[in-house]
Amino acid sequence: MKIGITTTIPVEVVFAAGHIPVDLNNLFITHSARSEFIRRAEQDGYPVTVCGWVKGIYGAVLSEGIQSVVAVTQGDCSNTQALAETLELAGVSIIPFAFPFGRDRSLLEEQILALCRRLDTSMEQAEQVRASLFGIREKLRLIDELTYKEGRFSGEENHLALVSSSDMLGDPDLFERHLDELIAGAAEREVVNREGRLRLGFVGVPPINSDIYEFVERNGADVVFNEVQRQFAMLNRSSDLVDQYSRYTYPYDVFGRIEDIKREIEARRLDGIIHYVQAFCFRQIEDLILRKSLSVPVLTIEGNYPGPLSAQNRLRIEAFIDQLRLSR
Ligand code: SF4
Repeated sequence: MKIGITTTIPVEVVFAAGHIPVDLNNLFITHSARSEFIRRAEQDGYPVTVCGWVKGIYGAVLSEGIQSVVAVTQGDCSNTQALAETLELAGVSIIPFAFPFGRDRSLLEEQILALCRRLDTSMEQAEQVRASLFGIREKLRLIDELTYKEGRFSGEENHLALVSSSDMLGDPDLFERHLDELIAGAAEREVVNREGRLRLGFVGVPPINSDIYEFVERNGADVVFNEVQRQFAMLNRSSDLVDQYSRYTYPYDVFGRIEDIKREIEARRLDGIIHYVQAFCFRQIEDLILRKSLSVPVLTIEGNYPGPLSAQNRLRIEAFIDQLRLSR
C-alpha cells in the first residue's frame, strides 16, 4: 500500500512493513497539476492565508487517491494537525507521528514503536532495513561531498538527490540505481573552474520556486549547501534508529540547526546564506534567530505559490550577490 508522509519520518518502518512511502511534498511539487492541487484545497475551504505546501499536500492526497497518511503532528509544521483532520474528514486514514520536544530519546523510541505497531512490523525489522540503507546514505554523502568539494553537482542536483531520500522514490533499489547513474555521470563531467564564484548555502524549508537555483547560478554564485535536504538524507552513521532520528536537526529546536549550519559554513567556506521562508509559515519567526546567530550575510526570501521567482525576489537575490561580491 502507498503511505503518504507529510515530512521525513523513520521511513525504515514503512519499508519494513512492506509498504511504499510517498513523500507528499515531493508528489505535490513535481506534479504537473500542482497549481490545481492548491486550487482544490482553496475550493474546499482552505484559507488563502495558509501555506502553499499544506494546501498542495491536501490536494495531492485527494487527487492521487492516497488512502493512508503518516501525519507528523509535532516537530514539522504547526498546520499538520488541521491538515490531518481535513484529510480524515475526506476518508483518509491518519497515522500520527511526533518528534518529541527536547529530543527526548525515550519518547522518540515510543513514537517509533507506536509506528511499528500501527504498521504491523517491529523495531527489529525496521533496524534491518536501516542497515540495508547504509549504502544509499553513503552514496548521498558522496554526492553532497562532490557538490561542495569539486563542484561536480549543481546546487539543484544536490537538492533533488537529497530531498528524494525522504521516501527513496518508494523503492530503495530503484533509488540506489538512480544515485549510481548520477555519480557515474558526474565522474565523466569536466570539472569547471569555479574560481572567483561565490559559494552560498540555502537554509530553511525547501523552496517552492522552481527556478531559484538556476537564477542564483546564472548570477555567478554556486549553492553548495542545502541545509534541510541534507538533514533529510541522514548522512552520518548512527547506532540505531532512535539515535539516527534524534540527531536529525530539523524537527527539534532551531539551536541544533544553527550549530549544524555554523559547522557547514566553515567546512564549505560559504560567503552567504539564503534563508528561504514560506508565506504564512510559523518558521518565519526563526529567521530573526538565524540572522542573529550566523556569521555570514543572510538574505531572506519568501515564496508562496509554485512557479518562478517573483520580480522582487529576483532583484533582491541579484543585489545580495552583488553586495557579497563587492565585500569579498
Ligand atoms: S512551509 Fe512551514 S507552514 Fe508550510 S508546510 Fe512547511 S513547516 Fe508547514
